[in-house]
Amino acid sequence: MRLIITEKNNSAQKIAEILSGGSAKENKSFTIPVFKWSDADGEHATVGTGGHGVERAFPEGKEFKQWKLDLIHGLVDAPLITRPTDGKKNVIRAVQKEAKAADSLIIATDFDREGELIGLESLEVAIDVNPDLEPTVKRARYSALTKEEIEGAFSNLDTLSYPLAHAAGARQDIDLIWGAAFTRAVSLMAKAYGANFLSVGRVQSPTLGLIVERELERRAHVYVPYWELFAKFEHPSGSSFETHHATDKFWEKLEADAAMSATADPGIVKSVTSRKNTSKPPTPYNTNSFQVDASSRLGITPKQAMNYAQDLYDDGFISYPRTDNTIYPDSLPLKKTVESLVKIKDFAAAAPLLDAPLTPTQGKKFDAAHPPIYPTHALYPSALDGPKARVYELIVRRFLATFSAPMITESTRADIEAGGETYFVRGKVVLDPGYAGIYTYARSSDEEIPALEEGQKLTLDGKPWMVDKETQPPARLSEAKLVQMMDEQGLGTKATRPDIIQKLYSRKYVRNHPPEPTATGMAMYEAFKEWVPEMATSEMTAGLEAEMDQIAEGKMTKDEVVDDSRKLVHSTFDNMREGEEALSKMIWAGMDKDRILGPCIVCKEAGRVKEDGSPNQLRIIRAKKSGKSFVGCSGWKPDDPEACDQTFPMPQPNFYEVTPLEENCSICHRTPRVSVKTRGRAGRPWKLCFNDDCPTMIEMREKKAERLAAQEAKKKMEELDGKKKKTTKAKAKPKKKSTAKPRTKTVAAAKAGGPPDLGTRRTKKAGSRNKTD
Ligand SMILES: [Zn+2]
Ligand SMILES: [Zn+2]
Repeated sequence: MRLIITEKNNSAQKIAEILSGGSAKENKSFTIPVFKWSDADGEHATVGTGGHGVERAFPEGKEFKQWKLDLIHGLVDAPLITRPTDGKKNVIRAVQKEAKAADSLIIATDFDREGELIGLESLEVAIDVNPDLEPTVKRARYSALTKEEIEGAFSNLDTLSYPLAHAAGARQDIDLIWGAAFTRAVSLMAKAYGANFLSVGRVQSPTLGLIVERELERRAHVYVPYWELFAKFEHPSGSSFETHHATDKFWEKLEADAAMSATADPGIVKSVTSRKNTSKPPTPYNTNSFQVDASSRLGITPKQAMNYAQDLYDDGFISYPRTDNTIYPDSLPLKKTVESLVKIKDFAAAAPLLDAPLTPTQGKKFDAAHPPIYPTHALYPSALDGPKARVYELIVRRFLATFSAPMITESTRADIEAGGETYFVRGKVVLDPGYAGIYTYARSSDEEIPALEEGQKLTLDGKPWMVDKETQPPARLSEAKLVQMMDEQGLGTKATRPDIIQKLYSRKYVRNHPPEPTATGMAMYEAFKEWVPEMATSEMTAGLEAEMDQIAEGKMTKDEVVDDSRKLVHSTFDNMREGEEALSKMIWAGMDKDRILGPCIVCKEAGRVKEDGSPNQLRIIRAKKSGKSFVGCSGWKPDDPEACDQTFPMPQPNFYEVTPLEENCSICHRTPRVSVKTRGRAGRPWKLCFNDDCPTMIEMREKKAERLAAQEAKKKMEELDGKKKKTTKAKAKPKKKSTAKPRTKTVAAAKAGGPPDLGTRRTKKAGSRNKTD
């Protein structure tokens, strides 16, 4: 039997379907689907591993488990072990069962470094039980799950590339060592224990640096005032139009005032000039340009874009989405693909492309492994779910645009002099949309200006007016821009970048979109920059990245590169220990700042302030004994009966993500307001005001009561229904009893999925809560 191992269950099924001509049957082996068929060449089976079946880990032993600063050097040098990934035991059993019965093995995992490593891991799992397979191993490389690609790959089998697999293996080891060593080091130094540990990563920290640097620039921005001048002129057609003074910005108000009062009738058209602009059609998508484009044009994150692209690839609708290539290889059936796409009504506008030979644009990067991302199957986008449809449509439109003509626009500018002051009006119209006809995202709406001739006299429509503005700080980096900058600085790989950004969110170093650093995120980066600059900048990690490329090219071994990285971790850790005290203080201050939600109104009304005169703040406090979090006032003192005793229960951070929304609720103006989301669960966050009497909270409770009543009514109906059925069907199963326990704890609410029931506000002092919890 010939055993074919793929990465996903979906590709195992697709490959079996294609190679068997539809006759393959699904069997289950240890609950894992295995697809089998036989033909003139004998029996065949495909099985998908669902990614890595094994993972790298530190060896067992107290000295590797315990978090202690003195154990970190030893941890870095620990010989790593390979063990089955959690939840993958059945996959390994299934692969081994099939491997025992097999006489040859084909690795058909995804065609990239990660796929090569998964292939090598699967191979090792298989030859563990059947060493005879080793000399038979072949590799099938394909870029799309289409009949042509799969048949081509299987009639042209290759060998497994150990250098490629080892390059991916080196990354795994290095990231594990870095992450563990510095996450422990920084968490221990900042005394951030348990669920509040501070994660540090080789690529993650310099990426955070990009976001923080921009934030620092924004904060350092000096707002400079300036003035802009506008005037309206009447046009013979009956309408009037707006013009802007030829001086873009007046930095002195006096000058703007003078120009405004000098403006006088009549306005005389001094010149009308037009210019044609040609914009070239875009180049084929590679991973990076796709992530950036999808994120900015569709308003989704680069990570979501990649997830949808992966789904579309698994469905056989697009080619492999992890590619550097921006040049179509000669082997691609371009004409056939265009022909099938334009039959879909949504893309029919591109049909004229077929009237001439297809000449695609090309980018600068070529990579023989995979073609650029292109559609491999024509279908109506409406057949797919919302965002997936939009991603598919974007890929199709981009593909068709690469064969299209340039877009030609004409911009016109007219200068009008009125009393010695010059004003201008500018317009832009599309003469020939070219590629923007199909790649509609690139099309801008026309801004037409009225027909004007040189020497024409115009009358002012009312008085000119002035608008005062000020210079703005540079914008925050969008996630698309961030992915692009990471690419330019060699941070991460095309496959890992979106996940790294996601991690910054989940560790609460950034929040909101575009990402904005929290005080903790700012402090982490600033502390690194000062005490361990190699952690904060891209150079060192980009250097390691280059060494991993050398493994892939066979110029360095995995051991050499991992050892180099161990040396770097040792020296960086030593530097960190030298600055330990200052570093931990900086991070501590940042974490403290993030706990503050807003001013305490009760203290403000009572005239209570801190010793330094600043207002008392409501902040998140973690009770030492119970570990539970609550909101308390910084003005509370254990033995002072006059001190502020404001406390509020809050959703526990272990189960809920709590993000500050407003320092002071804009509805009731009594307490801060936060946004709450159940951890690890999709769904919209809800807004929570800590003031129980806030209209927003009253409304929320009413809605909840309505919902519960509706559920209750439904349950009654079902019970009645059940009784009816029982009378007709004697063997009806007894209904499961719904748990009637009151949901008082947030844990129960987390399971129920609704907003947590916080109970009524407690008026006990923050300190006394510890005993009751
Ligand atoms: Zn207070
Ligand atoms: Zn409120």
